[in-house]
Amino acid sequence: MQYIDMHCDTLAKALAERSATAERLDGTMADIARLRKAGAKAQFFAVFLPQRRMPEWFGLEEMPEPEALFDSMYEIYRNTLRACGGTLAPAGSWEELSRNAREGKLSAVLTMENGAPVRGELSRIKAYYDLGVRLITLTWNDANCFGYPHSAVPEEMGRGLTEFGREAVAYMEELGMLVDVSHLSDGGFWDVAACARRAAKPFVASHSNCRALAPATRNLTDRMIRELAECGGVAGLNFAPAFLNGDPCDPQSRIARMCDHVEHMVQAGGIACAGIGTDFDGIEGEFEIADCTGMPRLFDALHMRGFSWDAVEQIAHGNVERVLREAL
Ligand SMILES: [Zn+2]
Repeated sequence: MQYIDMHCDTLAKALAERSATAERLDGTMADIARLRKAGAKAQFFAVFLPQRRMPEWFGLEEMPEPEALFDSMYEIYRNTLRACGGTLAPAGSWEELSRNAREGKLSAVLTMENGAPVRGELSRIKAYYDLGVRLITLTWNDANCFGYPHSAVPEEMGRGLTEFGREAVAYMEELGMLVDVSHLSDGGFWDVAACARRAAKPFVASHSNCRALAPATRNLTDRMIRELAECGGVAGLNFAPAFLNGDPCDPQSRIARMCDHVEHMVQAGGIACAGIGTDFDGIEGEFEIADCTGMPRLFDALHMRGFSWDAVEQIAHGNVERVLREAL
């Protein structure tokens, strides 16, 4: 079964391991060699850019500015494309994704997790677009020029996009860049949805689950899932235990629980809004699917749950392909 994964932090892991490429990595949940084996049609590669001090995550002593951190991971991304030229190619558009698939190549979609380096300038969004970035996760877990992150504090959760954030979302939609609401506040979600409705463009929650099943503020409420679906968007199933389980201290990432979330997502928003966003290499726990080569187990389990193979195909890649066709 082919699939498209909307989120992994493998570039950050490659940086931490001081590897020049992501072709083959030890101790990670994904690399190009294993993604090929797993049947991936496209992998979104996030350049993870936290604003807070966490240099150890990247195997660094000091925390660089987000621009410098972007450059380090971008170099690994470019090196990987060069090293794997015969089997991997960037996909900046629906056409490129289709061509890569025809040529039997895995597509790489470059994304940015945290728009902080945009620093409130539309021209900097264009500069990142020109480097190949096709999705921006507007915030990580700290406020930035786009808006405010998810929070357990209701007033903070209610804060939406900044004025620049609203302008930037409209600009991204015009440019052909996906707007990602994972990590964003609920207020921000509704602001993005209002922009998406005005522009008639889909947006995504690249790696977020259902809040009805796991109370994490990173997850989507049923109302949000319905709205995302009505805008033609997709939410990617996240494998993190904290976003799967009702008990936030349960360390298990189980396939049955993943199926529960997909089922609920489909009940709340319809089959067209369900996708995959594993968060491989960005999450910790005890995993039934410990790396990307285990992905077929999820698709088999979804089929066993009663999803037809057509429906599983839609969840695995069809829905995200539709969004890419409409947004890029
Ligand atoms: Zn994330």
